[in-house]
Order: sequence, then C-alpha cells, then structure tokens
Amino acid sequence: AKKVLTVGEILVEIVATTKGDGFGEPQPLIGPFPSGAPAIFIDQVGRLGTPAAIISRVGNDDFGRLNLDRLAADGVDVSGVEVAKGEVTGSAFVRYRPDGSRKFVYNIAHSATGRLVLTPAGEALLESCDHLHVMGTALSVSGLADVAREAIARIKARGGTLSFDPNLRREILETPGLRQALEEVLAHSDLFLPSGEEIYLFTEADDEAAAVAELLRRGVGEIVIKRGDRGASHFDAHGRTDVAPLWVDEVDPTGAGDCFGGAFVSLWLAGASPETALRYANAAGAHAVTEIGPMEGAATRDQLDALLGLTKG
Ligand code: ATP
Repeated sequence: AKKVLTVGEILVEIVATTKGDGFGEPQPLIGPFPSGAPAIFIDQVGRLGTPAAIISRVGNDDFGRLNLDRLAADGVDVSGVEVAKGEVTGSAFVRYRPDGSRKFVYNIAHSATGRLVLTPAGEALLESCDHLHVMGTALSVSGLADVAREAIARIKARGGTLSFDPNLRREILETPGLRQALEEVLAHSDLFLPSGEEIYLFTEADDEAAAVAELLRRGVGEIVIKRGDRGASHFDAHGRTDVAPLWVDEVDPTGAGDCFGGAFVSLWLAGASPETALRYANAAGAHAVTEIGPMEGAATRDQLDALLGLTKG
C-alpha cells in the first residue's frame, strides 16, 4: 500500500470548557490532548490502517511523549520525529467565543517543532513515502516551512502526489510571506482541501463555481470543499459531487477538517472513487466532532462503516 507522509507541528492542546471572549480570566480547562493539525491528520490515516509517517520535532518531555505514544499506538511511523533534549513541546490553548468560533493561543514558534530541521530519518521518509500532505499552519512557522518546501520538491521529483489543506486560523494569517508560500504549494497540489471561504483566498473570483473552475484550469487536480455541519463537495474535470452531513451530536468541532482530510487521502490513494472517498471523509469529519479533544475522535474503518450504515449483521 502507498504510504502517506506529513510535515508539521506536534503540540498539546488545552481547551476551555466555558465560552467567553478573552483569556483574561481564569476558566475551567480540559487537557492536555495530543494535537497539531498535521498530527491529527496523520493519526486518522494511521487509524484507518493506511501506512503513515510524520516529520516533526518535540521536546524530551511529557507533552512530547503523550503525542508520540498516541501516534505510535495508532500505527503512525514516528521515526521522523526528533526528540530534542532541553527543548519543550509546543502548546495551544483554545477558547470558544460566545458565537461558537474559536480563539487559539499558540505557543509553537519557540518550541522544539519551530526549530525543525531535516534529520537522516526524515530524509529516509522522503525517499520511501508516496504521498505528502501539507497544511497552512506548517507554512506559518519558518523552520517548518523550509522543511515542508524541501519535502514537496523531493516527493514531487520522485513522482509522488501532494495534498494541501490551507487550514488557516485567523491568528496565523498575518505571518509575513505566508500568502506566497501558500500559492507555491497550491501550484503543486494534486488535491486541494479548503474549508468554506478558503477557496476565495487564491483567486479573484467572487463565486464558488468560478473559483473552482479557475483553480482546476490552473492545474489543481481535484478540489474538496469542507462545509462543517453542511457536508462537503468534490470537484474535478468530470464535474461535481456533494455529500450531505451525517447527523451527529457535535461536542467539539476541532479536528473535523483534519480527520476528514486523513480519511479522504487514505481512500483516494487506495484507488477509491471520489464519491466513496468523499462519503468516508464526511463520516470521519462527523465522527471527529463527537469527542472532546482534537485527535480523540479519529475513527477506525469499522467505526466509519457503522456510521455509514454499512456494517453487516
Ligand atoms: P477544523 O479546522 O476545526 O479541523 P475545518 O473547518 O477544516 O475544521 P469542517 O468543515 O469544520 O473542517 O469539517 C470538516 C468536515 O467534517 C465537514 O465538511 C463535514 O463533512 C464534517 N463535519 C464537520 N462538522 C460536522 C457536524 N457538526 N456534523 C456532521 N458533519 C460534520
């Protein structure tokens, strides 16, 4: 089977359990949970039994170990994760605003992950993996961005495929040079997985159909738009496929897009039709929101089959 690789941040996430605007007042928190968008993505790939690996860097501490233990338990090859002595694993605090949107406070740039360099183990993964998944958050931190760019060049040169999820948080949009870095990744993408409005970041088009048509014309192979509790859509040269959201009880939306992407890429690489990949990805996104904690809702194939009503007996 083909092997999926991602490059990017590993961190722990600590989540507020009450809604509010600022971080000025003490509030009840839950966590730490293993996290980092690329880590959530690759954990979902691993849980589905697809060969998976991540290039990253953590501190030699409990937060780093929490992540490595989880990823390894779910079948992810963590040989490309450097454990840096005397450095710390990053963290993110999440708070839900009264309107349900999220405020993130990131502590990544000065963490072990922010000083990522390619190690011999990382180099070996670039030679052995078939597909690379890159996320916008990785491009917002300078050390990570350099390794991500190198990884794209190497995987593409070997004939591998690339998927790209901009995953842009309001908090990282101000990063200098980010826009150009995103455009460069998009230009090499076989599969583009924006959520909602992110499709408009890369074109002048003012409606979705025009934006999609322009990106396909520019050479993006397939586009999958994530629409939260409104489902998702797939576009390629043959046309459009929509999928309705599955009914689930949402307790924590964080991680839905990453699990959706992990499932889509797993099925896509294994040769499933766009319709099938979309159906499973939609189910993985729905499953993800049913658990508190970003990675806690990553699903196995059996869980997705059950959610899709495909379980026998
Ligand atoms: P995040 O950045 O928080 O991981 P995202 O914005 O990238 O998320 P979403 O669009 O929120 O991604 O969710 C991805 C997919 O998961 C949706 O397209 C949908 O298929 C599924 N999904 C998300 N939320 C729900 C929900 N409440 N009910 C059913 N399906 C959902």
